[in-house]
Parts: sequence; C-alpha cells; structure tokens
Amino acid sequence: MARTAAKAGIKAAHHGKVNHGKVGKVNNDGRRGPRSKAEGTPRVTLIPGDGVGPEVIGAAVKVIEAVGVKIDWDQQLAGAIALRRFGSPVPDQLIDSLKSTKVALKGPLETRVGEGYRSINVYLRKLFELYANVRPVRTQAGVHTPFSGVDIIVIRENTEDLYAGIEHQVAPGVVESVKIITARASTRIARFAFEYARTNHRHLVTAIHKANIMKLSDGLFLKCAQRVARDYRDIEYQEQIVDAACMRLVTDPHMFDVLLLENLYGDIVSDLCAGLVGGLGFVPGANYGKHGAIFETVHGTAPDIAGKGIANPVAAIKTGALLLDYLGHGSAGDRIRAAVNAVLRAGRVVTPDIGGKATTADMTAAVIRALK
Ligand code: ATP
Repeated sequence: MARTAAKAGIKAAHHGKVNHGKVGKVNNDGRRGPRSKAEGTPRVTLIPGDGVGPEVIGAAVKVIEAVGVKIDWDQQLAGAIALRRFGSPVPDQLIDSLKSTKVALKGPLETRVGEGYRSINVYLRKLFELYANVRPVRTQAGVHTPFSGVDIIVIRENTEDLYAGIEHQVAPGVVESVKIITARASTRIARFAFEYARTNHRHLVTAIHKANIMKLSDGLFLKCAQRVARDYRDIEYQEQIVDAACMRLVTDPHMFDVLLLENLYGDIVSDLCAGLVGGLGFVPGANYGKHGAIFETVHGTAPDIAGKGIANPVAAIKTGALLLDYLGHGSAGDRIRAAVNAVLRAGRVVTPDIGGKATTADMTAAVIRALK
C-alpha cells in the first residue's frame, strides 16, 4: 500500500445517518494481496483463535458465505492452540500467511501463553505496524441500554505507550514501566482520526489524555493532535482528561463523536463504551496499517463462556462486515449489518448476555435468514 490506511480511502457510507467507516480497497497502488486462481477472489488469513474465538469467528465466516462474497480463507492457528500443536503461539506459517495476504479475520488469542510474548494480539499488531485500532460503538434497537442513539468511534493508537512492554525491577519491591510516546506515532494516529472523521462525515474529534499529570508524554500526544487539528478546520477538536471523559461518557455519551486515544486509555475506554451499548458482544474492531489490516473483536477469549456455545456472535459478525467493507464489498457489509439489526430488533433469537436463550449457532442462523 502506497498510502496510509487513513488516506487509502476510508469511504463514507451514506445509509441514513449511519457511517461505517469503510476502507474501500485493499491497496491503492494496484498491488492487492494475493488472489486465488478464481480471479478476483481475495485471500484472507483466518485465525479462529482461542476461547470463544472459533465459535464466533465460525459464525462470521458462515454469514460472509451466506451473503455471497467468496473469500479464499487461509486458515491458521495462533495462540494457545498453536502453542500446543506447534510449540509456538505465533508459528512461522501464520506469519508467512499474514505477510502474503496482508489481511486477516482473527479471533481473540489467549494472552498468557508463550515465553517472550506479553500479548500475542499486541505482538501481531506491532509486527505488521497496524497502528490504528478502530472500534465503532453504537446502540442497537432491541438491546436494552441506559442511552439510545450512542454512536461513537474509538480510535486507539496501537503501537506504543505502556504497551511497548518495557518494564524492569529497579530494586526488590520497586519496578518501573516505561511509557513510550513519540511525535511520529502520535501525529500518525491523529491524522488517521481526522482523516476518518472527514471521510465519514463526523464532526468532532476528542483527544483523551492525562497531560495534567503526564506532562511530557501525554503533553506530546496532545501537541501532535493540536498540530494535526489545524489542518482540519472543518472538524471540531476538543480535549478531555481521561477521568472526566469517562464520567461524561456514562452520563452524556451523545457529546462524543470520534475519540482519539493512546493505547492504554484506548483499551480501557473501549470496554467502557462497549458497556454503553450492551456489552462486549456487540463491538467490532479493525486494526489498520500502511500495509494491511487485521479485523478482530474488542472482546477477548471470554474463558468463562468458552465452549458453551452461548457467546454473542454479533461483534464477530460485524467485524466480518468491516472486513467486507475493506475488501470493497461494502454493500454486502451493509446487508450483514441490516440483518444483525433485524434479529436484534425482533429480540426473539438472542444470546444469554442480553437476556435471551439462543445459542451462538441459533443466532447466527437467524442472521442468515434475515439477509436480504
Ligand atoms: P481475555 O483475557 O482473553 O481478554 P477476559 O475474560 O479477560 O478474556 P473478555 O473475553 O473480553 O475478557 O470478556 C470479558 C467479559 O465479557 C466476560 O465475562 C465474557 O464472558 C464477556 N464476553 C466477552 N465476549 C462475549 C461475547 N461474545 N458474548 C457474550 N459475552 C462476552
């Protein structure tokens, strides 16, 4: 890809008032990921993952098949299951596949496995410089939540901050974690956020920080955001201290539009926002970089419900829809979103996390039946 993902055509979708933040093409310089023999069939690495991963990613794949988009899936193991099978949570064949396809649909991976890896999810994002994590958070008709009409895009920097993983013991009983913030990464994610806002007709970017305490690191993040904001006079720019922002998010979420956050605040605020719209079972996600993208839900392996067949598949199915947007099948993505909305609105076939009795498979079948 010759241009950043932000510039690479995150397209507006004019379907009523809802924009999905689409990425129109795999590449803009004509170098698409490898194609299978059937001309035009994109090759995508499929990582079922750990915990509820195989259940919900399986649901997403079924729905993509049902909507009629052909994808040549290159299925790869990663995480705990790969560690057991190949002795590494990140086997070489997985990395080779990702290098070749440059795009993946990925289930959550167990973070506590594998010597030398703090988190395999974080490792993969960093390895492929997938610097922008985008998480659309929206209330859905039929899902009981304290507020209606929540529509927030969380944009999280993915490559640095405390996630750089630099920690050491200074002396027994004293440890140090190093927070890395660079002008390069801060400017890059700020530009992504503003570009996203402009392309998707959003009106406000709010940078969230703790620069009153972390004057150097968060101070630099803010300075970069302010500099970028000057290039986007058509979009309002605000700043909020993270603790105050959390309070306002749960009292008046409508005052937010696009959130711009460093890595750690982005992680925490994403879950908070998920709580606003019914829980982690609803929020899809995508990691974009200069050279590719990995699509994954906000939720993790959910070990407490793994293997029970009751995980809510909506987050994964909507993540699959984001993948379709990226591959240039935006109308198929829209049909999937409409089908999910119809099932939730009807409220008859929904999983226990929102008070239903349906299994993951039941709900997936209902979404497929609702496809038009
Ligand atoms: P990990 O260590 O992989 O992040 P976790 O349990 O700490 O796992 P999540 O997997 O994000 O974090 O789960 C947090 C809570 O949300 C759990 O109670 C889980 O059951 C619930 N949850 C997550 N995903 C879903 C889902 N798809 N459907 C229903 N509940 C879910």
